Amino acid sequence: MDKEGSPLVDMGLLRVFDSRQFSGWEKVGSGGFGQVYRVKHVHWKTLLAIKCPPSLHVDEKERIELVEEAKKMEMAKFQFILPVYGMCSDPVGLVMEYMETGSLEKLLYSECLPWDLRLRIIHEIALGMNFLHCMTPPLLHLDLKPANILLDGHHHVKISDFGLAKWNGLSNSHEFSLDGICGTIAYLPPERFKEKNRSFDTKHDVYSFAVVIWGILTQRKPFADEKNILHIMVKVGSGLRPDLSLIPRLRPQQCNGIIQLMQECWHDKPDKRPSFQDITSETEHLCTKNEEDSTSVPAKEFQGKVTQEMEPQILGAQSKDMCSPPPVFDKDYSLSELLSQLD
Ligand code: ATP
Repeated sequence: MDKEGSPLVDMGLLRVFDSRQFSGWEKVGSGGFGQVYRVKHVHWKTLLAIKCPPSLHVDEKERIELVEEAKKMEMAKFQFILPVYGMCSDPVGLVMEYMETGSLEKLLYSECLPWDLRLRIIHEIALGMNFLHCMTPPLLHLDLKPANILLDGHHHVKISDFGLAKWNGLSNSHEFSLDGICGTIAYLPPERFKEKNRSFDTKHDVYSFAVVIWGILTQRKPFADEKNILHIMVKVGSGLRPDLSLIPRLRPQQCNGIIQLMQECWHDKPDKRPSFQDITSETEHLCTKNEEDSTSVPAKEFQGKVTQEMEPQILGAQSKDMCSPPPVFDKDYSLSELLSQLD
């Protein structure tokens, strides 16, 4: 039986587990916060994921942060948001649904994805983000990037990692201390570097979404050739964005609509970026169109015949040999790491 929650922290609807309820701990990922393990629930006989802080000696602050993350996930229960079950008390960890395919980051750099799947992933991310922004008050994710977009066994999206998420209007940049910033630099909007005291708003996530779209279309890391993180900040601050010429020229026609949407989403002025209400209307339209129009032309039939004029043709499937060269694996930097380079 699940234990009662700690009297010190209000656990809401969340369960409390202990380690005896799990077997077969296997590390499946790590990030700024700590490690993620795949475990089997001894009685439920199903796989779950547990996110634990790096040290076994978890202080009260770390524990409260994890509980807060779990509560936000619980409140944001939705088809495209990662389901949370509760907290493990010993070792301290956040107990979540296990996502078989892992992160979009891993998927993007391991195999060439068919276009119809890429478009569906873009639409499902937009649906998840739209739900968060439709909450009252809107829940800002503030760390949207491929490593935080997980996929189930059927490649359907679940947005994860609410460690930096904030309720719109209830937070400002002062609370978002530099040490706590873990958003990867390429996904941070320019106003983050330019306006130090600016409050967070929904348009931060819209910018990050645009960079995620670019990564899905190219299956590359943004600014992979730029090793100096400060150069990225300066370039993005002066209007530079990930390279459009890296998007494959042979692509379904509706990709052109997605590219236009992506450019609107990474507009320098936050006010000019669309809301997720507008974005989901657009992605819904483009994805529905894809399902109707997609004629699954075997990629091999295109080989040798590919010309620029063929660019608008629908390519429902793409083979590995038609992919761009393998992407460069690069380290993800948190802003605190980045700022330490300034000294
Ligand atoms: P960061 O703060 O650097 O973004 P983090 O320490 O908060 O990361 P997560 O982003 O939540 O940790 O998870 C790190 C990685 O662990 C993910 O990129 C993913 O590969 C894996 N992972 C996390 N949760 C799950 C899950 N529920 N199922 C399967 N894999 C997971």
